[in-house]
Amino acid sequence: MKYIATLLFVFINTVVLSQNTYLHCGKLIDTKAGTVLTEKTIVISGTTILKVENGYTTGKKGDTTIDLKNKTVLPGLIDMHVHLEGETNPKAYLQKYTDNEADIAFNSVQFAQRTLLAGFTTVRDLGGSGVNIALKKAIKKGRVHGPRVFTAGKSLATTGGHADPTNGSKRALIGDPGPKEGVVNSIEDAKKAVRQRYKNGADLIKITATGGVLSVAKSSSNPQFTVEEIKAICETAKDYGFHVAAHAHGDEGMQRAILGGVKTIEHGTLMSEKTMDLMKQHDAYLVPTITAGKEVTEKATIDGYYPAIIVPKALEIGPKIQNTFKKAYKRGVGIAFGTDAGVYKHGQNGKEFGFMVEAGMPPMATLQSATTTNAKILNMQDQLGQITSGFLADIIAVNDDPTQNINTMEKVVFVMKNGNIYKK
Ligand SMILES: [Zn+2]
Repeated sequence: MKYIATLLFVFINTVVLSQNTYLHCGKLIDTKAGTVLTEKTIVISGTTILKVENGYTTGKKGDTTIDLKNKTVLPGLIDMHVHLEGETNPKAYLQKYTDNEADIAFNSVQFAQRTLLAGFTTVRDLGGSGVNIALKKAIKKGRVHGPRVFTAGKSLATTGGHADPTNGSKRALIGDPGPKEGVVNSIEDAKKAVRQRYKNGADLIKITATGGVLSVAKSSSNPQFTVEEIKAICETAKDYGFHVAAHAHGDEGMQRAILGGVKTIEHGTLMSEKTMDLMKQHDAYLVPTITAGKEVTEKATIDGYYPAIIVPKALEIGPKIQNTFKKAYKRGVGIAFGTDAGVYKHGQNGKEFGFMVEAGMPPMATLQSATTTNAKILNMQDQLGQITSGFLADIIAVNDDPTQNINTMEKVVFVMKNGNIYKK
């Protein structure tokens, strides 16, 4: 009887007395049109946006009204490059040998929460051990507060490549990882690795097309896959509805990745003008990660923070990222907002906006990059990235108008995801 009464109560609440939320917005960013609207009311019902009305309106008895009249309201932000499993610290390289999956999982809960409270309601997790897949599920079920996660699971690399999990370890501790663990050395391996990611529950594929800064290996930028291997990865990925993201600093590896069919180039540090044009031709996007470039440059000057082999790579690559972004944007390459959070401390993702503006991108364009552009790449353009009728209720607010003061994006004061309020 008690059970039936509870059911009835839930039914009445959701169907008959469904409560709406009214957000009174002093300013509202229209990310589709690229304009700032004033004095609007967003009406939210359940997880979605019912409508946007002119002026300040209120609903019926029992509805909630929230005053954001002296704030600027935007769609929830999307960061296309985070690593929710870890965070930079001087012991990061040791943790590989001390932390179990459960340790990683408990840490990632905090990182996810910080990311959400910074206004990032959706992220693309570009590689970890696979705990990131469990984290995505826990967030979806509401057990953990965090952004909506699209995850690559474990990145794909070649033997000794940037995401080979055994780099720098003594031989007695390591085996010879294969496609199951994300290490690929042939076309057959490539297909198997992608299919394994599907089986594991990933949403997309990440490859490390060139050397990288933070791996215990010599080169930061050599090509690490053949174009045939990348093609096999991208074609197999397509069968499973996955797009492919490619980490790349060196130009040759970047070109192979674009010709192989990847959707996004991460970092893009040593990108030539020829490669920029190739990206435009193939409708590929650059994910800038300027914040990470600045962070590794700074940390490399602290004695012992990184293993010695990392330091020269960080000092070579880190300072170049912002300038490459500047050139690529000017040349018309599509820009997908992404920061490489985890390489710096989670929750500071909003700093990237200021760095992009500093390099010549107009503030409104940076906001569109983090909303409509990223929603499109994730194939969520009908649900995310805009505040309009029928879209998911992912809504944030900041104190100032970011088109006037972009640094206000570092202090998000209101966060709603799927119609639930996490920060007010
Ligand atoms: Zn990364």
